[in-house]
Amino acid sequence: MVNSTRPLTTTRVFVCSHCGRCCEKIFVHLDGGQWAQPVTAGLLLLPGEQHLFPHTTPMWRSGAEVLAYQMDREPCPHWTGKGCAIYNRRPLACRAYPVWWEIVWRADTNCPQVTAVGQLGEYREEITSAHDILRFQRWLYAMHKDLEYFDLTERVWKRV
Ligand code: SF4
Ligand code: SF4
Repeated sequence: MVNSTRPLTTTRVFVCSHCGRCCEKIFVHLDGGQWAQPVTAGLLLLPGEQHLFPHTTPMWRSGAEVLAYQMDREPCPHWTGKGCAIYNRRPLACRAYPVWWEIVWRADTNCPQVTAVGQLGEYREEITSAHDILRFQRWLYAMHKDLEYFDLTERVWKRV
């Protein structure tokens, strides 16, 4: 029997179909916008996530101190062809995908489920993870005025 006193809530959330598109194409090419120069980036790995990946390269550093790493292989070595081998331990960047913050919350339309679902309000877990990444990035910019970014294409450090 339906409990008529319980408020109606929606249980709809973003549902990943495990198509692997975001696991096979890892690299992001950033140009213009907040970046002084074009850079190519791998999968962001926050401190404490680097150990999950056999291949990593520094991403951000301040002075000689590396603050974050990036996974620099595609497809991701944890992609099995059918799913993620470390799904329950996957890094925050994977938990946030396809959502990121750019003045407003955005969803990457390269993900086929974005077209299918289409409502950002249903991306609660992804927005929460993307918010944690945004907080980390703001901490980087606020605390490290000499911040540098490692460009995977040219294999050189660049000033942000
Ligand atoms: S860790 Fe898992 S979810 Fe993240 S890119 Fe690799 S296979 Fe995909
Ligand atoms: S592209 Fe979208 S649906 Fe496909 S694995 Fe990534 S998050 Fe899931």
